[in-house]
Amino acid sequence: MERSTIVRVHEGLHARPATRFVKLAKGFESDVELVKDGKAVSAKSSVKLMLLAVKENQEVTVRANGADAIEAIEALIGYLENPRAGLDDEAESQSPANDVGQQAASAPAAPGGATGLRGVAASEGFAIGPAFAHFPPDIAGQGRVLQAEEIGGEIDRFRAAVSAVQARMDHALAQDSLSAGDRGIVAALRDIAADDSLTSEAETLIKGGNDAISAVITAASTIAADFSAVDDHYLNARADDVHAVGRQICLVLLGQDDFSLENIPEGAILIADDIGAWDLARAPLKRIGGVVCGHGGATSHIAIIARSHGIPAVLGLGGQVNALRTAREVALDGNGGHVIVDPDEATRADFAGRVEAAAKERASLTVFKTVTPKLADGRTIEVAANIGSLEEIEAAQEAGAMGVGLFRTELLFMRHMHLPSEDMQAETYAALAKAFAPYPVIVRTLDIGGDKPIAGIEFPDEENPFLGWRGIRMCLDRPDIFKRQLRALLRAAVHGNIKVMLPMVSDISEIRQTRVLVAECAAELKAEGVPHATFDLGVMIETPAAVLIAPALAKEVAFFSIGTNDLTQYIMAADRLNPTVARLNDVTNPAVMSAIEMTAKAGVDAGIMVGMCGEAAGRPDLIATFVKMGLTELSMSPASIQRAKKAIMAMAAEG
Ligand code: PEP
Ligand code: MG
Repeated sequence: MERSTIVRVHEGLHARPATRFVKLAKGFESDVELVKDGKAVSAKSSVKLMLLAVKENQEVTVRANGADAIEAIEALIGYLENPRAGLDDEAESQSPANDVGQQAASAPAAPGGATGLRGVAASEGFAIGPAFAHFPPDIAGQGRVLQAEEIGGEIDRFRAAVSAVQARMDHALAQDSLSAGDRGIVAALRDIAADDSLTSEAETLIKGGNDAISAVITAASTIAADFSAVDDHYLNARADDVHAVGRQICLVLLGQDDFSLENIPEGAILIADDIGAWDLARAPLKRIGGVVCGHGGATSHIAIIARSHGIPAVLGLGGQVNALRTAREVALDGNGGHVIVDPDEATRADFAGRVEAAAKERASLTVFKTVTPKLADGRTIEVAANIGSLEEIEAAQEAGAMGVGLFRTELLFMRHMHLPSEDMQAETYAALAKAFAPYPVIVRTLDIGGDKPIAGIEFPDEENPFLGWRGIRMCLDRPDIFKRQLRALLRAAVHGNIKVMLPMVSDISEIRQTRVLVAECAAELKAEGVPHATFDLGVMIETPAAVLIAPALAKEVAFFSIGTNDLTQYIMAADRLNPTVARLNDVTNPAVMSAIEMTAKAGVDAGIMVGMCGEAAGRPDLIATFVKMGLTELSMSPASIQRAKKAIMAMAAEG
């Protein structure tokens, strides 16, 4: 069964509309194909769809075969003819970033009562300041077909440009002025610039007669599209990085300097469609009052840089950002994702008040940065940081983190186009250990499942990935990946403060099997003469099974860390990502609180440390309860640390 139509999707089925189209197609059981000029591709593959290069106003055919073929054709043709129908807002069809985090939409409920724009709340805080619009022109290829004899020279030119970009990034990495966090981001970009995927794709295009600039633009788009197409925010955010690297290569080919943010005025709000992490990391960040961007989401590198430098940011505004090109002044609310253009007097006063109040609160809390919270009986409560990358070290230290209670290693695996090597992992874990010594750094082994696929691991299609092959289950089935991580951890453990914890544990055998692998890794490292040391092994308590066997588990491990995010969803059988059941997904529900209490009791009885690294650990209203249950470590996002220390001190003062 098939039907033809004229495509009305603005600029054709490029990355995001393709993703949207694929999402729709995947909702049907039938096999669905899109046909253009006689070429048919699966409508369920974004990469293939994008490679079909369907443009606006072209004729295509949707072909479906299966039980729901009629419905599939109707829905897909409907989308092609009227892409905005049924979407929440215009940006859904146009914004390159709006399926990241919160939706970009018109937001009448901005603070101060003014109307404004709404995007992704990517870095908390309020700001108001002069607008600094930054929209460098797009780079276009020459669009001519190369003669056969020109191709060799063009490839040489391209290779020289790639080397120049790599050298530029190496140079930046060698500068002392680059903060440790930003260095990690530039290193990730350098990794992309050096990756064969981008360069070989571009070289193939040049060999096919494309000029180098067109080839780079196309290759970057193809690879970025691979990242964008995956249903994962972290991977989506990498698409922006690929474009940023592609742009740098093009600028070298053009012999042009990149724009500079050198002259941004003090306190200005930087407005751009897209800012490469590379550009932002080199900008005078102390002068930037806020960031507003068409691209990007809560997990993009721009968001990480903004958060770690305390710059409020609203990202993912999509096409709406164009409304700010001529703005004189901008107010932004990085907590709610609101942006107000040329605010009126009342809004200005409101924002000025909020900026001042936030600064006051921050200032009043800074006295807790160096505080070591102790209870009336003299016991210390460790307030540690949850982080997921080296870029966040500075923010954690600035906040006064007493070590790391949860280092999520997923980003390390997701950020690269291949599985991270043992050496790279060992360096990362060692850098963390050194940064926080003598405090402990608890590294969680890879906690990933089919809902967050990563390059290099084939995940099966699962009906319910949250109950499927994830975390420790996947790792034990893939010793090649797991042992690489364990070896890296054993190597980093020579620094003395590395601890390791296992996610999603539901059976004692998982710990025993892990111990066997750890022993194997240690024996291998010894035989190879590689320095290494043992580490304390703990478990996350985040499944009901782990709570129920906590007394037995406590005999096998050195510590517990309660993962309230998952524990709440599994105890309450309420998906943590599903807003419809958000009411049930409540850590304060007596069922969850009693699971926490049972875990604490089992740990305390066995004399092992019990900590918490779920979001609840940072809640000032719950901290006293947890501490009374016997928890001695609370790990949270750096922004919550000083408030948590204050809550513990208040509790101690009450006796
Ligand atoms: C948790 O489940 O509470 C936890 C800390 O882990 P994550 O949020 O990474 O699943
Ligand atoms: Mg979890």
